[in-house]
Amino acid sequence: MALNLEQSTSLIVERARQLVSQLVEQRGHGKPPFLSEEYAPLLGIKRIEKADLGEVSAILIKLHDGDVIRVNQNHNPARQNFSCAHEIGHALLSELNLELCVEEAEFRTFNPQAPALARAKARERLCDAAATELLMPEIVFKKYLLALGASISSIESLANIFRVSISSTAIRIAEVSTEPCLALLWRLRPGTKSKVLRLAWRVGPGKKSKGKTDYMPVHTLIKSTSTLYKAYQCANPVKCHKVFRLDTGVKRLPVESKGFGHGEARYVISLAFPDR
Ligand SMILES: [Zn+2]
Repeated sequence: MALNLEQSTSLIVERARQLVSQLVEQRGHGKPPFLSEEYAPLLGIKRIEKADLGEVSAILIKLHDGDVIRVNQNHNPARQNFSCAHEIGHALLSELNLELCVEEAEFRTFNPQAPALARAKARERLCDAAATELLMPEIVFKKYLLALGASISSIESLANIFRVSISSTAIRIAEVSTEPCLALLWRLRPGTKSKVLRLAWRVGPGKKSKGKTDYMPVHTLIKSTSTLYKAYQCANPVKCHKVFRLDTGVKRLPVESKGFGHGEARYVISLAFPDR
């Protein structure tokens, strides 16, 4: 069976949705948070153990009488929740025999070293897609997003309600928001003394699939004199406009930004709205 990445993603997300329904039925309500430890028994995962795993976030250990997830106790609870859900994603991947499909999938590239890496990346992306649906089920997340509004100020509340990280929440907003929305993350440029923020990633609008407009900021570096940089320096959200390049030209979009985290780990999340 040859499946491309998109087909594999729908299969694993569909399986994650079944687990969500099963959990909702079992506990008699569909209110967040949805926690990894609630899903684990549904898949015969015996327990989740906390351990010092160094650089590793979590591992799925196959034992003869059931699986065990070991998660890094040094990470914050939101990150632990996602790491465990990601490992549940690996369990679903093998249950659905999708690992083989990913092996066989065609990855067009001119670099002979790249296919193995691309397959590994594809596997991890499938597990992340499953984890996202488990912890932030699309229907439930949309309901809360609609109530709070697609705004930079809603991210923290949603992250607390669903017990996931700020960045996972921002990505989910960009994926499922009814109003088209992009999420971007900016970080200080490492190894330089100059205070410049660099674009680390961007997601949306919508789930990544062919045919969607690809918005890329014309300027991927933010100087300390720019309005967006103020979000890095202070606690309040900052509003500005940024120019994005798309296939058909350029477009100036309203952007809301807010800084999160402290010290070296500080970063800025922006939400951009193509239709506003
Ligand atoms: Zn993984």
